[in-house]
Amino acid sequence: MKYYSLNHHAPKVSFQEAVIQGLASDKGLYFPETISALPQSFFDNIENFSNEEIAFEAIKQFVGAAIPENKLKEIIADTLCFDFPVVEVEIGIYSLELFHGPTMAFKDVGARFMSRCLAYFNKDKKDSKNTVLVATSGDTGGAVASGFLGVDGVEVIILYPSGKVSDIQEKQLTTLGQNIKALEVDGVFDDCQDMVKKAFLDESLKHKNLTSANSINIARWLPQMFYFFFAYKELKKQNKELVFSCPSGNFGNICAGIMAKKLGLPLLHFVASTNVNDTVPRFLASGFYDPKPSKATISNAMDVGNPSNFIRIQEMYHNDLVHFKKDFSSYTFTDEETTEAMKTIYKTNGYIAEPHGAVGYLGLKRELHNYPNAIGVFLETAHPIKFLDVVEPTLNVKLEIPAQIESVIDKEKVSTKIKTYEELKAFLG
Ligand SMILES: *Cc1c(COP(=O)(O)O)cnc(C)c1O
Repeated sequence: MKYYSLNHHAPKVSFQEAVIQGLASDKGLYFPETISALPQSFFDNIENFSNEEIAFEAIKQFVGAAIPENKLKEIIADTLCFDFPVVEVEIGIYSLELFHGPTMAFKDVGARFMSRCLAYFNKDKKDSKNTVLVATSGDTGGAVASGFLGVDGVEVIILYPSGKVSDIQEKQLTTLGQNIKALEVDGVFDDCQDMVKKAFLDESLKHKNLTSANSINIARWLPQMFYFFFAYKELKKQNKELVFSCPSGNFGNICAGIMAKKLGLPLLHFVASTNVNDTVPRFLASGFYDPKPSKATISNAMDVGNPSNFIRIQEMYHNDLVHFKKDFSSYTFTDEETTEAMKTIYKTNGYIAEPHGAVGYLGLKRELHNYPNAIGVFLETAHPIKFLDVVEPTLNVKLEIPAQIESVIDKEKVSTKIKTYEELKAFLG
């Protein structure tokens, strides 16, 4: 399997090279050259497969010869070490809970898969290391830190904006030690992101073998397909069509869902639910892609003004807006609507949704008017504890601290403060 750059000015590469590079040399995102649907018999019998077997079938064509099959199976088993429950919160409306992993956000799956692929590619390179450099507004940092902890041959450097992530998120990325280093940047998320981008372009850092661990990296993006297969397996027996709503920021998750559909998974419709960072809803309304600087909201993991994976989605529809709109809708919601939805879900069902899941719920409810006979699934992308400063006062509840969080909360934070790009460079050495 080869990957091409969506900017079309870089050579085609293997899965291995695409994972190691992250972004192509022309700064384009990588995209698979071919996508082959899985046999109908697989979908007919999906309930007889384990999650690990399903994941293997879904991803093997994208990995190709880069990793031997038995090794790939090991990586998948190691990645999927937790559950993905589908919980009914209303008649015909389900929450697909993606937060039961080690850092309690859905990014655990992609981070664990990518780290294990990199470790495999590094196994024979005793003296050259890869450096994963990642900017985080909160959740990515923790998932990447946990996913890469102790992985041989990979050093991880996480940049986060000082004072702008929650206490729990900060602990998750500053307390692990070993091969994980945290840089606390005197600035906002965009400053962290700018420094990381600059480092990738910096010729004098070539020897550091820098790579990214954002969803631009195919090894973080593609495993997110698995969720849609797992939910389908769970809900298939109801014999109804499925509409999925993804709370969307960089649109990696929903783009993986569309890839699952390309593989033949029978999904009726996708909804990209956003907060007020509404570049994609505006695009669908006007046909004009006009990114804007991001605005801060209570669903902060989706505060993205220019979603990096949207170009992959457009590629899958060959930029055909009419066909695209048949499969895909996108709606935007304010923080007030989000907290109202959290209260409604809690009041009617006793279900505690955090702000990202609540945005997903809102988009789903709106879309289901068009598909009254379908089942709706919204992705609950984080555990409520990760957004406890919104969840507790909004719902007037006290959340119990889960074991995964308990284990980091009393550990000592270790970070290095930086302010400028020069300081980042000096740190990288
Ligand atoms: C990253 C994240 C999102 C957005 O996912 P994308 O794949 O970037 O669209 C939504 N919710 C939570 C909790 C996240 O951490």
